[in-house]
Amino acid sequence: MIRYFPRKHLTALTLLCATVTALALVPSRESGVDTAEVSADRVVIELPPITADKVASAPRIKPLASEAIVTPTLPVEDAVSTAIKNLPDLPSIQPDVASLEIASVQKTKSPEPVDPWQTLTVKSGDSMSALFQRAGLSSKELYRITSADKKRRLYKIMPGQRIRVLASDGRVEKLEYLQTELKTYVFDATGDSVTVDLIEKKPEIRLAHATGTIKGSLFYAGKDAGLSERQTMNLANIFGHVINFVYDLRAGDHFHVVYEEQFLEGKKIGEGRIVAAEFTNSGERFSAYRYEDSEGYFGYYDEDGTSMRKAFLLAPLNYSRISSNFKLARKHPVLGKVRAHKGTDYAAPTGTPIYASGDGRVSFSGTKGGYGKTVIIKHAGGVETRYAHMSRIAAGSGKRVRQGQVIGYVGATGLATGPHLHYEFILNGAHRNPRTVLAKLPKAKSLPKSELARFKSTIATKVALIEGLRQTQVARLESSN
Ligand SMILES: [Zn+2]
Repeated sequence: MIRYFPRKHLTALTLLCATVTALALVPSRESGVDTAEVSADRVVIELPPITADKVASAPRIKPLASEAIVTPTLPVEDAVSTAIKNLPDLPSIQPDVASLEIASVQKTKSPEPVDPWQTLTVKSGDSMSALFQRAGLSSKELYRITSADKKRRLYKIMPGQRIRVLASDGRVEKLEYLQTELKTYVFDATGDSVTVDLIEKKPEIRLAHATGTIKGSLFYAGKDAGLSERQTMNLANIFGHVINFVYDLRAGDHFHVVYEEQFLEGKKIGEGRIVAAEFTNSGERFSAYRYEDSEGYFGYYDEDGTSMRKAFLLAPLNYSRISSNFKLARKHPVLGKVRAHKGTDYAAPTGTPIYASGDGRVSFSGTKGGYGKTVIIKHAGGVETRYAHMSRIAAGSGKRVRQGQVIGYVGATGLATGPHLHYEFILNGAHRNPRTVLAKLPKAKSLPKSELARFKSTIATKVALIEGLRQTQVARLESSN
C-alpha cells in the first residue's frame, strides 16, 4: 500500500526536517515508473556545442539610428539556428520541406476555427450581470438563464470560478458554471425552457502522510510537516477530547498523519479526510482511525474501537479562532491556575463560539456578578461546567444541550480585563482539571462487538502505515544521535 503515497510528498518531506522524515517509505517502484514515462516517446537530438567563436561570428543586427531602443542583437539564437543547420542528416526526424510548405499553405487557406464558447473568469466584485455585459449579452438573457435555477447558484459566484457561454446572435444556447474542479452546472437554453444539470467528476484518492514534531506551536509543526492550516485544525479536532492543545502541548510532542488527497487528471485538486493519525503528548500516545460503520456513521476510534469522542471537550471553544494562542506552554498554567483561580482561561477574540463541553442541561443562564454573562451546565456523573464572561448567551436556562452545541460567545463581561472564556470543570463539587479526571468520567462510546471484526480489518493497513511512520521516525532520531 505504500506505493500509493505520492512521491512528491515524500520528496517534500525529506526536504523538511531531517529529524522527523519518513525516508524509508520512499517507494522504489514509483521512481521506476516515473523514469519510464519520461523517456518514452522522446527523441534526443544532440546539438553541437555552441562555441564562443560561433557566437561571436553570428551576424549582428545593426540598430537603426532613429530607433535607438530597438531590441539588441540576438547572437545566441543565431548560433542555435546555425547549429541546427549544421546538424547531421536525420531523415526520420527532419520533416521534408515540401510537407512543411503544404502545411503552411493549408493553414492560411482555412484558419483555425474560433472557439464558439466564451470563457469568463469571475473576478472579485463580479456579478453575473457584469459577466454578461462583458460577454455582450443582454440582461433579458441573464434573467432567462438565472431564473431557471431555483437554487440561484449563479447569484453566488466566487472569484476564480469560471463561466463558459455558448451564444449565437445574442441568444444563449448553453452556459456552464464551473463551480469547482469537480462540479459543473450545465444550463441548456436551446429549447423553450432552460434546464439545469449537474455534471460531477470523481477525483482519484491517494493517500499522503506527514510527520511533525512540536517545537513552537502546533501550527508551525503542521506547516513544517506540509499540512495546511485546515488539516492541522482537523488533527486538533480529532484529538481535542484527549489533548488540550491550548495548555497541554509540550516541546517534543509529535504526530503522524495519513490523509487523503484528491487528484483529477493527475493534478492535485484538494485534500481530503484524515484516515489515521497518532499524537504523542507528554509521552502518552493516542491513535485515531477513521471508520464508517455498517450503518454509514463515521467517527474516529482508537485501535481497540473506542471512540475518540469523550464525554467532555477539553477546550470548549473553536480552536481555529484561538490559533494565535496555540503556542507552546512553557510552564503548566493549568495546575497552578486551577487552584488559585478555579478555572482555565482561554483568550480568544470577542464573538468566538463557545461549545457545551458535554451533553447536559443548562442549570443557569444569565449574569452572575464578576462572572458576567454565564452559562452553567449540569451533566451526568456529578459533573458541572461553567462558562463565564460571555459577550452573548445562546442557551437558555433549563435547555438540554448536546456536546459541541454553541451555548454562547466569548466576551469580557463581569470582571475581565480582556475577551476570554473562563471555564470551570467541577466534579462532585470540587474544581478539577478535566483531563486528569478523564478516566473517572463516563466512558466514551466503543464500537459494538458486531462491528469490531469489520473495524479491525478495515483499519489494518492504516495501523501498519502509522507503525511504519513511527518506526521511521525512531530510526531517524537514533541515527541523528
Ligand atoms: Zn478566569
